[in-house]
Amino acid sequence: MTNFSVLQGLKVAGKVIRSYMTNRPLVVSYEVTLSCNCNCRHCDLGGVIKDEKQLQPYEYGKLTRLLKPPVVQISGGEPFLRKDIIEVVKAIKQPDGLPYLIFVTNGVLLEEGNYLQLYEAGVNQFSVSLDFPNERHDHFRRHRGLYNRLERTIPRLAKFGFKNIILNTVITRDNLKEVLPIARKAEEWNVFISYSAYTARRTSDRSYCIDGEEERGILRQTIQQLVELQRRTNHIFNPEAELLDTLKFLEQGSIPNCKAGIRFFVVMPDGAFIPCSLWRNKYSSQKEMIEKFSRRNHCGDCYVSVRAYSERSLWSQAKAVPGYGKRLFT
Ligand code: SF4
Ligand code: SF4
Repeated sequence: MTNFSVLQGLKVAGKVIRSYMTNRPLVVSYEVTLSCNCNCRHCDLGGVIKDEKQLQPYEYGKLTRLLKPPVVQISGGEPFLRKDIIEVVKAIKQPDGLPYLIFVTNGVLLEEGNYLQLYEAGVNQFSVSLDFPNERHDHFRRHRGLYNRLERTIPRLAKFGFKNIILNTVITRDNLKEVLPIARKAEEWNVFISYSAYTARRTSDRSYCIDGEEERGILRQTIQQLVELQRRTNHIFNPEAELLDTLKFLEQGSIPNCKAGIRFFVVMPDGAFIPCSLWRNKYSSQKEMIEKFSRRNHCGDCYVSVRAYSERSLWSQAKAVPGYGKRLFT
């Protein structure tokens, strides 16, 4: 059974509507450390950051009560590199069971014990990166043995039946032909899958961007097949409109009207506010960030999951309480 009741789902939906109407954040990402045990090719992080200034668990609790986001994402870096991560989760989770808590991990350290501990502490959704349905994943993430580890671990965790694991796949030129096989892998492992689009904004590496008519043709066909799969099955997490916008982004390289800083933003390990993980100018409050960044933001350089989620229609957000998608209400 899931650790998130229908009543709590309805509370999140209500909070989403209120946040939507009042321009409060729908999702806040707590990047609890920038240290990471991978060194992925599409990311500027990797390695351990010594003497990193980090908020303490109780400070995350205070921040959550202040910001009142319906959804909190715990990410990094790799959150498992914090020894006090269970305490951080407990501090964020409030007595009413909110916010809906998403734990983003590369899966290197994920195992049965900490999965259950985090679940007990209040994590509602585990978001695990997977870019290839084979050992090419290790090459992309620069971590030998990672794919085999995930292949052993994820199906075992899925057997608990909590239905809270979502694989996260970033679509690049390199894995274009693996997009559908990864969906089959998710089905085989009995977990969900969510797709997002590669952006060169983080590393300036354009070699992973889809390029040329032939690749665009494969991309269009692939997304069309994903849409059909999404209609027929239950394990593709992105709504159809989001898949089509992902296609649009990958074809055009940009999507305007980003609400970074308003609908969603990131809290750095030291507590500073930044609009998104790709714009790291620091602010001391959301108000300051909106005035100095969001009001004049013309960036459309990514279509990452947190942005895609926060741009869903009000109805789609209220209905698709994250982690349950259409399943909660059908
Ligand atoms: S993408 Fe995630 S797992 Fe990979 S280096 Fe960056 S923070 Fe680490
Ligand atoms: S589109 Fe928005 S979320 Fe993406 S990099 Fe630009 S400001 Fe950040």
